[in-house]
Amino acid sequence: MSSFISDLMAEVKAKNPSEPEFHQAVQEVAESVALVYDRHPVYRTARIFERMIEPERVIQFRVPWMDDQGEIHINRGFRIEMNSAIGPYKGGLRFHPSVNMGILKFLAFEQVFKNSLTSLPMGGGKGGSDFDPKGKSDNEVMRFCQSFMNELARHIGPDTDVPAGDIGVGGREIGFLFGQYKKLRNEFTGVLTGKGIGWGGSLIRPEATGYGAVYMAVEMLNTREETMEGKTCLVSGSGNVAQYTTEKLITLGAKVVTLSDSGGYIYDDRGIDREKLEFVMELKNVRRGRIQEYADKFKGAVYTPVDPKLDYNPLWNHKAHCAFPSATQNEINVKDAENLLKNGVYVISEGANMPTMIDGVNRFLDAGILYAPGKAANAGGVAVSGLEMSQNSMRLPWPREEVDNRLQMIMKNIHQTCMETADRFGTPGNYVNGANIGGFLKVADAMLDQGLV
Ligand code: NAP
Repeated sequence: MSSFISDLMAEVKAKNPSEPEFHQAVQEVAESVALVYDRHPVYRTARIFERMIEPERVIQFRVPWMDDQGEIHINRGFRIEMNSAIGPYKGGLRFHPSVNMGILKFLAFEQVFKNSLTSLPMGGGKGGSDFDPKGKSDNEVMRFCQSFMNELARHIGPDTDVPAGDIGVGGREIGFLFGQYKKLRNEFTGVLTGKGIGWGGSLIRPEATGYGAVYMAVEMLNTREETMEGKTCLVSGSGNVAQYTTEKLITLGAKVVTLSDSGGYIYDDRGIDREKLEFVMELKNVRRGRIQEYADKFKGAVYTPVDPKLDYNPLWNHKAHCAFPSATQNEINVKDAENLLKNGVYVISEGANMPTMIDGVNRFLDAGILYAPGKAANAGGVAVSGLEMSQNSMRLPWPREEVDNRLQMIMKNIHQTCMETADRFGTPGNYVNGANIGGFLKVADAMLDQGLV
């Protein structure tokens, strides 16, 4: 490790103790930025990266709410406003019991680079709460969202900070959050993205992250003159990203054989077709049930519950060509990475944020496979959020085809930026360096232009 990285990491760990995910995200980008610092000392002198790892602002607040039995609960809310050099803070809200400061800081940090890669004018942020929507009634979720927004509303705005969804925050939650913001501020503005189509949302926004991850895989396959047709694919998760990744893969003639949730995963040798996917969408988005039910419903599908004693995830241990991790961070450890390679997987497009641990990433890079890290592969979601902001500002919705065409173009450009940047910095085919450096340069130049603020 170069002294720049080891000194920086020692300081990051000392200043941000107990935030391992944040350390991991910073280290991965620092390894790429070291290449830039070597060639362009102007960024080193201005200590641009050292400034980027310090959030511009961190907000933490109390979220009290009452359940249906009249019991009082207290959750913790956060918003990390990481970097506004190229636009208003932009990034999702996550509601999940695992949420803490370190996880949100890693997500906000990644978001800065991702948003820059989209070429749209968006800074980076992230927020959320340790609230668990699972098992809560709609009324409980509404009361929680209203209480959360009572505080968040002071800090956000269409030109300041524009949150969206993430794990545990879908259309239902965005609706409740938007309703409360509108009531508090007495204004109807594009302060959140992922809104309903009838009240300011963009067509294709629900699909965008999953579609985008597949478009990225298509671009990568193109470099080898291959297509998605006939490829066998492993998908993890069964939420928003996993569902639309699966839908697009089916459309392109690929066969998806796995889906999962935090309880376990299903393997369906015959492939998940449109009818089966419709069942999953109803199960997850309406009935809010468990993926295990898939195996009860469809003959031949096998459900495997999570086994905490295993040091690997069996979902990643099936023969396939492509993998789309779409659940959560660190779901692929080094053993999983080795299993994927052993099973013939040579295309990986990360729908989730930082799903692969650093040693796993290094295995993929050493193997020379087509590996797109989350900040490039899942940028389609925030890109269409950016398009939703444009439509809100113009008060003019675009048709489905227009948004989808723009999404495809943006993913093509991200792929191109990653390829060209990786080449330029002497690491051809390394999409990790391509994404990190490509995202870094635009933000870094804006920070240089705007002075020491
Ligand atoms: P979602 O709709 O809430 O679905 C999340 C899925 O992942 C669920 O199946 C969930 O299972 C599973 N999961 C979550 N935490 C898990 C854990 N600790 N262990 C095992 N499984 C877990 O969320 P999503 O929007 O699809 O987000 C999935 C990933 O994509 C996240 O990493 C997110 O940051 C990233 N992402 C999302 C967007 C977007 O537009 N939504 C954009 C960019 C990146 P359970 O239901 O059992 O918890």
